Amino acid sequence: MEKLLIIEDDRDLREGLEFAFSAEGYEVLGAGSVEKARGCLREADCKGIILDCGLPDGNGFDFCQEIRHTSEIPILMLTARDSELDEVKALELGVNDYMSKPFSVAVLKARVKKMLKTQDHVVLESGVMRMDLSACKVEKEGKEIELSAIEFKLLAYFLGNKGLILSKEQILEQIWEKDGQFVDDNIVSVNITRLRKKIEEDPKHPQRLKTVHGMGYIWKEDAL
Ligand code: CA
Repeated sequence: MEKLLIIEDDRDLREGLEFAFSAEGYEVLGAGSVEKARGCLREADCKGIILDCGLPDGNGFDFCQEIRHTSEIPILMLTARDSELDEVKALELGVNDYMSKPFSVAVLKARVKKMLKTQDHVVLESGVMRMDLSACKVEKEGKEIELSAIEFKLLAYFLGNKGLILSKEQILEQIWEKDGQFVDDNIVSVNITRLRKKIEEDPKHPQRLKTVHGMGYIWKEDAL
């Protein structure tokens, strides 16, 4: 079960949130002070934090800064006032998201879920293509497509370098030779052809993974 730490000194609100997030399947730790929160972070391997900005023994902004010295754990900050200044400050201090009080618990749940998911999954997107690198999944127009390991690496390399011409040599180096394999450079065009069959509407006239004659290949975003 993923552990979530809720740091909020308003006891009713904290207990309400503990209840709401437990019902979502999280193991929830509650802290009403900075000191208690430090203890929770020391002892438990938390996945994310909901942090109130006004606490009895310190403020959330300072505590956030303190956490960021040692950890990139996702933090959603609850700001007391609907003030732009607080929001800017929160983002500058490295919080991942924030909400102003009063807030809707349903929206807070959705944002926390999203925050934790983004942390877990590295996603590359371009037009109708979406790659989840952590889950090794590729979708085209929302439908999963099957790629070989090499095709997957190739597509990730292109989506990570959209709009740049990648030469055959660069591709060889990135996909094959990094692992100490030395291969014929035909392997690049063979695999590009295979990949195009899976991701292009008309693989003979590719619109996404294009050839730049004499130079290499380039990934073009789908025209809107
Ligand atoms: Ca408070």
